Amino acid sequence: MIQPTVRSILEARERPTLSLEFYPPKNVLGFGILGGSIERMRPVRPDFTTCTYGAGGSTRENSFAACELLARMGFTPVVAHLTCVGATRGELEEQIHRIHAAGIRNIMALRGDPPRGEAAFRAPEGGLAHADELVALVKSLHPDICCGVAGYPETHPESPSRAEDIRRLKQKVDAGADFVNTQLFYDNRVFLDFVRDCRAAGIAVPIIPGLMPVATREQLARSVAFSRATVPAALADAFGGAPDDDARRAIGMRWTIDQIDGLVAAGASGIHLYILNQANTVLDPGLSACLRRWHAPAP
Ligand SMILES: Cc1cc2nc3c(=O)[nH]c(=O)nc-3n(C[C@H](O)[C@H](O)[C@H](O)COP(=O)(O)OP(=O)(O)OC[C@H]3O[C@@H](n4cnc5c(N)ncnc54)[C@H](O)[C@@H]3O)c2cc1C
Repeated sequence: MIQPTVRSILEARERPTLSLEFYPPKNVLGFGILGGSIERMRPVRPDFTTCTYGAGGSTRENSFAACELLARMGFTPVVAHLTCVGATRGELEEQIHRIHAAGIRNIMALRGDPPRGEAAFRAPEGGLAHADELVALVKSLHPDICCGVAGYPETHPESPSRAEDIRRLKQKVDAGADFVNTQLFYDNRVFLDFVRDCRAAGIAVPIIPGLMPVATREQLARSVAFSRATVPAALADAFGGAPDDDARRAIGMRWTIDQIDGLVAAGASGIHLYILNQANTVLDPGLSACLRRWHAPAP
């Protein structure tokens, strides 16, 4: 079945979209667990889902299989992530054709991080150096595929400046990207300033904020390590003063709910949740109530 594009959903929306991000399980047991989680999440009815893509061969296969599982279970449309890491142009073309043949019409076009053990990203021989080239490749092969690209409210770590990073983001949009999905952040002001600066730079496509509810000190530290997100003092203090992980989970969830409420009130195009495959996160009573305030899924 041909899946709708995220672009068409964003264009038709009368309220912010709700999207959930998944990552591919490592083995059969993991796929079974993921299937169970999706089953439990059915009542949430996201407008679209996304599935991340890893560098290794088996991870790639599992990413594709996870996209197919999400589609089979009705969590569509799916956005298949794709990176330039370790692939020639020909291999990327094959992967894009395969995604298209599966009926998927959405690709998150990414450069990817340097492979483990390497400090800097180097374009593979015969491969692509940046996400804008991947967007252009996808659009040249299948113009009916909708492309998302990554945006960094706190600037990509390799970028020499915020202005330069936004200029590069504009390049991705000029190459054909249909929407931007952001790196996670904990301070809405940071996102709203980023959107303002993107609009001033001529980026007109929807910019969807990415949020991750954190439940433990380790999760918060990991999220900061990979995203470089600033943790507001109020969140750091509350986390630091909490007696145990139950209390930290409640604080993290409350923080995300307040962020969502603020972003929806500010007119965000959508809310993208990095849920780390956890049904319990989206089924949390406080978060469910928050989502119901603006996300009224069709029965
Ligand atoms: C929403 C989201 C989803 C993600 N999903 C995945 C995933 O599934 N798998 C995964 O491995 N990683 C994923 N990542 C991480 C991402 O791969 C890394 O952040 C990576 O370091 C950059 O990818 P990019 O697509 O932003 O690269 P690019 O857009 O290529 O940017 C990388 C750096 O180069 C600069 N730049 C961009 N274009 C050019 C150009 N033409 N010339 C010179 N400089 C340029 C940018 O300013 C930036 O500093 C995701 C990130 C986000 C925000």
